[in-house]
Amino acid sequence: MKPTIVLVGRPNVGKSTLFNRLTRSKDALVADLPGLTRDRHYGHGRVGEKPYLVVDTGGFEPVVDSGILFEMAKQTLQAVDEADAVIFLVDSRAGVTPQDKLIAQKLRMSGRPVYLAVNKAEGANRAVVSAEFYELGLNLEPFVISSAHGDGVWDLIDSVLSDF
Ligand code: GDP
Ligand code: MG
Repeated sequence: MKPTIVLVGRPNVGKSTLFNRLTRSKDALVADLPGLTRDRHYGHGRVGEKPYLVVDTGGFEPVVDSGILFEMAKQTLQAVDEADAVIFLVDSRAGVTPQDKLIAQKLRMSGRPVYLAVNKAEGANRAVVSAEFYELGLNLEPFVISSAHGDGVWDLIDSVLSDF
């Protein structure tokens, strides 16, 4: 079975950077402007013998970030519904935000298998970083990663794929 792995998180946490790494492409547009990725949402990847499909939900987000009123776009929720696994990205430097909490709540309700990835954590203290995100109430051991540098990314994907 080829699992569909859906990347979810508020704008600017690094979804497209992770997408690029997991698909080894530069096709997703990565930028400092939140919500800029619009052009490509699906990509194929493979680890060893195991293929997977990755979905970058960034392009489904509204371009204007409405702050505390943010809700996950319908299309993102639809992608989550169709996911075999969800990677929920948060930003280690920003800490837990209200948007993260809303997303966590939606993901809990979705009943899909969720993997929490604390991104932008190059050089960070893993224990300190993971402790902070327990607040999201997902009851998960976070994967502390750097999508930009690659740290922890293959541990994460191996763990996701081990269930398929
Ligand atoms: P998206 O909006 O969630 O798709 O986020 P992007 O992938 O477009 O990344 C947003 C910004 O964060 C860009 O400037 C990326 O270069 C940067 N970024 C992504 N991953 C990392 C990381 O692991 N470490 C650092 N320091 N920056 C990152
Ligand atoms: Mg993006």
